[in-house]
Amino acid sequence: MTQPIPVPLQKLHGKVAIVTGAASGIGAVTARHFADHGALAVVIADVQDSKGRQVAASIGSHRCTYVHCDVTNEDQVKSLVEFTVKHYGSLDVMYSNAGITSTSAQTVLELDLSGYDRVMAVNARGMAACVKHAAGAMVEKGVKGSIVCTASFVADCGTESLTDYTMSKHAVLGLVRSASVQLAPRGVRVNCVSPGMVATPLMCDILKISAEELRETMAAVYLGRDEPLTEKHVADAVVFLACEDSAFVTGHNLVVDGGLGTKSIAVL
Ligand code: NAD
Repeated sequence: MTQPIPVPLQKLHGKVAIVTGAASGIGAVTARHFADHGALAVVIADVQDSKGRQVAASIGSHRCTYVHCDVTNEDQVKSLVEFTVKHYGSLDVMYSNAGITSTSAQTVLELDLSGYDRVMAVNARGMAACVKHAAGAMVEKGVKGSIVCTASFVADCGTESLTDYTMSKHAVLGLVRSASVQLAPRGVRVNCVSPGMVATPLMCDILKISAEELRETMAAVYLGRDEPLTEKHVADAVVFLACEDSAFVTGHNLVVDGGLGTKSIAVL
C-alpha cells in the first residue's frame, strides 16, 4: 500500500482526464496515479469491460468511471469524449495509451498484411482518433489541455522483427509532432511517452516469456539499479507531461527506458 500524496504535492488537482487502454498494464496504473494526484474525475476506456470495471471500482467510483471504447471505432471515441465533457464539464487531460502488438514477430519479408492492418488500426488510427476528438473538445471549450500518447522505445529506431508494431509507433511520433505544431496556438499541448520494456501482458506476448522472467532479466539492465522498469515509472512521466510542470513542453517524446534503447534493441 503506497502512502497517499499530500494535497500540495498533487499535480492534477481538479482535472478531468481520460485514459484509454486502462483495463491493464501501464494504463491501469496511470489511471490510479491520476486519481492519487487529485484528479477530479478519471474516465477509463478499454475493450476489456470486466477488467476495466474492476480497475475503476478499485480506484473508487466517485472518481473513476469505466466506459467501453474501441479506439478503432471513431464514433465510440467521439462518444467517450462527449460523455466525459457532459458528465464532468470539460476535458483537461487525454492519455491515449491503448495499444496492441503483432501476432508474431515478423521481418518485412514475412509481413502478414492483415496483422499489419490490425496493429495500425489500434496503434496509429486509434491514437489519431483520440487526439482528434480530445483536441476538438479542448479547443471548443477553450481549455489549455494536455494530450499524452504512448509511443515506445522502438518509435525512433528500427527493430529486427517487429515491423508493423515499430511502424505503428513511428506513426505516433508523427502524429504528436504534427498535432503539437497545429494545436500550440490554441494552448493545447501534445506529447508522448516512450516506455522501455515493462512486464505487462503486451510485452510478455511479444517476448513469449512470463512477467517474472522479464522482470528478472531486465532488473540487471536498467541503470544498474537492480530493479525493473515498472508501470509506475511510466505513470510518473505521464503525470509530468499532463500537469503544469511541463507547461512549455510540447511535441516532445519523453523516453522512459532506463537506457535500454542504447543497449538491447537486438532482442526484438
Ligand atoms: P497491456 O496489454 O497491459 O494494455 C493495453 C490495453 O489496451 C489493454 O487493456 C487492451 O485491452 C487495450 N486495448 C487494446 N486494443 C484496444 C482498442 N481497440 N480499444 C481500446 N483499448 C484497447 O499493455 P501495456 O504494455 O500496458 O500497453 C500500453 C501501451 O504501452 C501500448 O500502447 C503499448 O504499445 C505501449 N508500450 C508498452 C511497452 C511495454 O513494455 N509494456 C513498451 C513500449 C510501449
